[in-house]
Amino acid sequence: MFSFDNSYARLPQTFHRPARPAAARAPGLIRFNHALAAELGLDVEGASDVRLAQVLSGQVMPVGAEPLAQAYAGHQFGHFNPQLGDGRALLLGEVIDRDGRRRDIQLKGSGPTAFSRNGDGMAALGPVLREYIVSEAFAALGVPATRALAAVSTGEQVVRETMLPGAVFTRIAASHIRVGTFQFFAAQGDEEAVQTLADYVIDRHYPHARGAENPYLAMLTLIAERQARLIARWLSIGFIHGVMNTDNMAISGETIDFGPCAFLDEYDPRKVFSSIDQRGRYAYANQPGIGQWNIARLAECLLPLLDADEEMALEAANGVLKDFGDVFQAEWLALFTAKLGLTGEGPDDRQLVSDFLELMHQGEADFTLTFRSLSKVAGGAAVETLTDLFAVPQPGLADWLIRWRGRIGNDRTPSERQAAMEAVNPALIPRNHRIEEAIAAAVYNDFSFFHRLVDALANPYVEDPETADLSVPPKPDERVTRTFCGT
Ligand code: AMP
Ligand code: MG
Repeated sequence: MFSFDNSYARLPQTFHRPARPAAARAPGLIRFNHALAAELGLDVEGASDVRLAQVLSGQVMPVGAEPLAQAYAGHQFGHFNPQLGDGRALLLGEVIDRDGRRRDIQLKGSGPTAFSRNGDGMAALGPVLREYIVSEAFAALGVPATRALAAVSTGEQVVRETMLPGAVFTRIAASHIRVGTFQFFAAQGDEEAVQTLADYVIDRHYPHARGAENPYLAMLTLIAERQARLIARWLSIGFIHGVMNTDNMAISGETIDFGPCAFLDEYDPRKVFSSIDQRGRYAYANQPGIGQWNIARLAECLLPLLDADEEMALEAANGVLKDFGDVFQAEWLALFTAKLGLTGEGPDDRQLVSDFLELMHQGEADFTLTFRSLSKVAGGAAVETLTDLFAVPQPGLADWLIRWRGRIGNDRTPSERQAAMEAVNPALIPRNHRIEEAIAAAVYNDFSFFHRLVDALANPYVEDPETADLSVPPKPDERVTRTFCGT
């Protein structure tokens, strides 16, 4: 089924521990991503659902798999934990996809490992479905993220606050190496392992860094820049990761670990959903600052590799952190000006964007629909299409629209501008209340809404009357106010 080539397993023993999946009484395939399987070059021709469920719940080990749990550490809400690691996941192995890229195949929720601490190694159905929905939505939105190959129910019950059905998620990632993987070795003072990991990361993710004067500094710079761009993309779709601990930041630049993540309905830069984020550390607008903080933790691990001279190493690291800020600012501006339909660069663009966001904030306007409606207004729709979305009417909006119209000019026809704006302003995002609805039905074995939601989210930029109900913000009684890790 898989043509494995397991490079991580060939790294020194301190990097991983062997892992064995737990028994599952009655594995059942919930969903299998055939398009992704084809992209990965998997041979699933003729494989029955029963067979897929057995393999993707870990009941049958595919030929060539070398299941292992990866070691890592991490700062969780600012506090360092030297020993985390895959506590409820195992890496089956790696494949080379159709485009020659190396991809990890990981089972999540497959039972305890050497790193489980007090956890049971299991995943409940809800978080598995959430991760499936959101990762595939990200793919369709064009935002880098790990992917969903499959969701399988195990037939086992997992104990959380109540008993819940268990499930296993098959995650595909460019790799599962995190900032916390570097921290794991750096915290032990194992400079040799840090260097081994850095060399591995360069070969796997940043081969161009190899030719630089200082390959490690080049690698750090590239990691920082990719992360800065990624976080700008999150902000542009109203996404709140929810748990940006250093162990949940992939060095590949993919979004990873969709735990208590959520999307904004009405725009509020201080918005937090996660029940465990009591101080708002990971609030919507804090994400770029936290990303930079996490990169600083990575830079600390790499200091000995950046320069033999400590002062010089620190200076190089600070340069990377500044670069992170610059890249983020530039990317954010490019994304948000595109959302407003602006072309070229104007001196007041940043102000124009900020003022619009402030009006949305004061007006409690839905983030996604507001930008989508502005696209329609650009195409000639009545201004009420936009103003009706402001729960608290904003007198300043009329003025803003005059400035905006002045700035967009007439270098494109209205319908061209609308099309360009609609291509970057999705109509459909995975709304929190819809995810909850899919999970609530699935717990009673009804997966129809889950499938409908995943199917619809494959086309987020196209308005389809069949799926229009999924774009609607929550009614007051449907609002999701808190999200949970669900681990
Ligand atoms: P997370 O906050 O979900 O990224 O997880 C943080 C750490 O807790 C990681 O080391 C996980 O492997 C571990 N963990 C989370 N849930 C479980 C679980 N149910 N059993 C064992 N370990 C877990
Ligand atoms: Mg994690």
